[in-house]
Amino acid sequence: MTATSLTHPLVADLTSTTGVTVPVIAPFTGEVLHEMPTSSEQDVRDAAAAARAAQRSWRQAGFAHRRAVLLKAHDLLLERREELLDILQTESGKTRGQAFEEIFEGATVARYYAVSARNVLRTRRRRAGIPIVIKTSVSYKPKGLVGVITPWNYPIALSIMDVVPALAAGNGVIQKADNQGALSILASRRAFIDAGVPAALWGVVAGDGTLVGNAVVDAADYVCFTGSTPTGTKVGERAMATLTGASLELGGKNPLIVLDDVTPHKAAAGAVYSVFSSMGQLCVSVERIYVARSVADEFTTAFADRTKALSQGPALDYTTDVGSLTSAAQLERVQKHVDDAVAKGATVLAGGRARPDLGPYFFEPTVLTNVTPDMECFAHETFGPVVAISIVDSEEEAIAAANDSEFGLNAAVFSGSISRARRVADRLDAGSVNINEGYRASFSSTDAPMGGMKHSGLGRRNGPEGLLRFVEARTVAEATGILTLPRTGPEWAAMTGTMIVLLKALKVLRRR
Ligand code: NAD
Repeated sequence: MTATSLTHPLVADLTSTTGVTVPVIAPFTGEVLHEMPTSSEQDVRDAAAAARAAQRSWRQAGFAHRRAVLLKAHDLLLERREELLDILQTESGKTRGQAFEEIFEGATVARYYAVSARNVLRTRRRRAGIPIVIKTSVSYKPKGLVGVITPWNYPIALSIMDVVPALAAGNGVIQKADNQGALSILASRRAFIDAGVPAALWGVVAGDGTLVGNAVVDAADYVCFTGSTPTGTKVGERAMATLTGASLELGGKNPLIVLDDVTPHKAAAGAVYSVFSSMGQLCVSVERIYVARSVADEFTTAFADRTKALSQGPALDYTTDVGSLTSAAQLERVQKHVDDAVAKGATVLAGGRARPDLGPYFFEPTVLTNVTPDMECFAHETFGPVVAISIVDSEEEAIAAANDSEFGLNAAVFSGSISRARRVADRLDAGSVNINEGYRASFSSTDAPMGGMKHSGLGRRNGPEGLLRFVEARTVAEATGILTLPRTGPEWAAMTGTMIVLLKALKVLRRR
């Protein structure tokens, strides 16, 4: 490759004036994919100022205009899917099917907020403290500039899940893309620009996490962060120092419970996808399985057999089931977790080793048993294709084990009885619980909130909750003049009796 061919045309859309680039490696080959320009703090401030200026007319243009633009972007995402899938796979190392999940999610979110934003954010009358005497309504004002910080693992879906509702609510956006995944973000962003989103309204910067990330937090009126719990905690602290709101979508150690009434081989088929999708580099994928003793042998054998049968390799088509890890750092982290577990006595039922013959960062989907609390992978997020299967003797034990974690992002229950699974779901400390599915049931339910309990985060994306993050509620209450409120002592003395009667009447009428 020549020096010029390493400059990808998409990076012209970034705000970067430093002249400094960093190489981005293609996971399937280990070769330099392109040289990524990095942004300075001043670049962030410039992009933020441009987005603020563009936001004013975007807000003025109103919901109908924004709806039309977002629906057009939906169509362009679908029309351009093959190009987007190529870029996404080349940058992430995931399979085409798992890359398609991102296009599906992105288009779904664009349509959802295009269609629902006006209704969620319309001005509404609310009950007044004193009926007739006061009239109250609530309206919503966009925050202004939303800072979005995204990781490398789901670049298209995670960007759109935050950027689209921010835009739909009338905001501008300044996004810090991870260097790995930035091309996918810029390519999908072009669909929105071509659909009518002003380019300056959605600025994208990249570069050093702390330097550029801090500048984005400082520039924004609200911050959406997706990434690890340690970084998210720092982002939250920094935002809070200036009383800037933040939603934090962080890590997980997601459990899957297999109850004793499942058909074991059917449960195993569903569970395997839930663990190894995107090579486990997915915040909501499963890393712990608790299986009832009576079905454990059959389930575990079927699970290990299915795992061994997964076809793995670099392919820009739908011929593989699992792909590559995304980076050398990810390979090192996964290898470390597996080596540590094996050294401390875990049993490897499938996988357990790297596959340099397939590509530099390939690692076999790995199934472990006999995983104990002294092992790194017991409680800490591996964020890779490694699962620990443990046997439990009761539903109670399964629920207790699933909840025994600092995280609470996603969970799953497999059962032959939906009502039983729902009862178990009700007792799990997780922001989403999937029944007879690992994560896709909740992940694709865009009308329902997604987020984490405990150290998995703060706030929710998706659904009306995901939109309301991006607005300030403003209450407007008017004195109708039908009755003058008391101001002096004697006026109070004359009115308190009437007020007590009113309060008692409202209670009898069960009025809110
Ligand atoms: P990370 O925290 O290292 O980085 C995330 C982003 O933050 C990157 O763009 C990075 O450059 C930036 N960053 C780094 N330091 C920063 C700082 N001081 N201030 C502001 N930004 C900074 O996470 P990662 O390794 O890229 O992603 C993997 C993690 O993300 C996993 O823990 C995974 O579970 C989590 N994740 C969570 C969700 C969710 O929805 N809950 C989704 C995807 C990934």
